Amino acid sequence: MAAEPHRSEHPRGAGRRSGSYRSWVRRDQDVVWHGFTQMSCFADNEPLIIDRAEGRELIDVDGNRYLDAISSLWVLTLGHRVAELDEALVDQVGKISHSTCLGNGNTSTIELAEALAPRVPVAQPHFLFASDGAAATEQALKIAFQHWKNLGVPGRTTYLALGGAYHGDTVGAISIGAGGFGTDIFDPLRFPVVRAPGYYDETWADQACALIEDRGDELAAVMFEPLVQGAAGIEVTDPASVGRLVEAAQRAGVLVIADEVATGFGRTGALFASERCGILPDIMAIGKGITGGYLALSATVVTQKVFDSFLGPDLSERTLYHGHSYGGNALACAVAKRHLELIDEWDVLGNVAARADQLARRLHTDFADHPAVRAVRHVGLMAGVELGPPTSGLSWGRRVCAAAVRRGVLLRPLGDVVVLMPPLTITEDELDRILDTLAASIQEVAATE
Ligand SMILES: *Cc1c(COP(=O)(O)O)cnc(C)c1O
Repeated sequence: MAAEPHRSEHPRGAGRRSGSYRSWVRRDQDVVWHGFTQMSCFADNEPLIIDRAEGRELIDVDGNRYLDAISSLWVLTLGHRVAELDEALVDQVGKISHSTCLGNGNTSTIELAEALAPRVPVAQPHFLFASDGAAATEQALKIAFQHWKNLGVPGRTTYLALGGAYHGDTVGAISIGAGGFGTDIFDPLRFPVVRAPGYYDETWADQACALIEDRGDELAAVMFEPLVQGAAGIEVTDPASVGRLVEAAQRAGVLVIADEVATGFGRTGALFASERCGILPDIMAIGKGITGGYLALSATVVTQKVFDSFLGPDLSERTLYHGHSYGGNALACAVAKRHLELIDEWDVLGNVAARADQLARRLHTDFADHPAVRAVRHVGLMAGVELGPPTSGLSWGRRVCAAAVRRGVLLRPLGDVVVLMPPLTITEDELDRILDTLAASIQEVAATE
């Protein structure tokens, strides 16, 4: 396992806000535009300005430490500055950092695809690499659409998607996505899809299966996040329901796209959530944890059958005319390959199982019946604690997370859901620290009402 971070010399939490910190915030605000952030109050919200990290702790410009309990927005798996990943990166820098994957290959990209091939729950997989999750889901949508064109099958021009779905921020991805997060502005641009309810509705699978039965001939594909809808606020379903959806889709000849950008690489306790659901998607999108949180890399994985539908004469219209500049980046692929090995060498999934038990136990004993908590939801090391403020508009999610940050645990809410997404190598003590901090932060905020 990664070395324990030594913690003595720096305070935990936002102990000190120096002139240097204020200056960094000013400089940031002058030139950087932060995603999902209202820049007019960026500085007022006391943003962390991170300078470095050690293990699972981030260290800010004042030397304050924060346990990274959101895995740097769900990408971090083993921890920051893992010696083995650093070494893989440096070794690759000594060879080449990047060469294009359009029409040509790179040994680093090939070796990663070979290493992933026997591990992904996709039959005879082929990998189209990109850099972000949204690029991987967007590719999946285009591939599914063109697949039917290539086969000469008319009419399969729309998609089945779920309520609560999140597949990224690009225009295709927000069309499949359920809305919210300010995407309503783009409604005139979002293409229509067939929509079933999300995992918040117990009957979601029945309704989705019925829609497939009714409108299967119109559907190029069904796209969903297996087991957990992360951005919806960690909404969870059971593996059997996902299995039923996939069965209905495959019976109707509808392509199955599993978006494992959040659930992939161990987060749910298996390497991929599709394995827990017993499904074999036709197309899978992976990203986030693929490089352990080091570098931007994603991929769209397709079966041999889907891949073959794109084969034809050179320069013919069967070709997939799509590919990003940095897709299959050699540095990212080298780190991703070493990361996949470390997941096995360190028995990371063993730790996820043990910590997931601990997390489930404590969520139910300490949080589920708390008067300030409406619900707790979890799978593996993905959890949501939904707060129940007495009235709306109190920003409890925001305020509880700010209180946790002051105590040295980095949390970030989705509305009033506090998301817990610890690194997969989190220790028993660290997980207790996250939960103790969350409990104290909820107490602090609830006491003010
Ligand atoms: C985060 C996420 C995406 C988008 O990934 P980016 O790398 O942020 O573009 C897509 N799908 C799911 C399920 C996600 O959680």
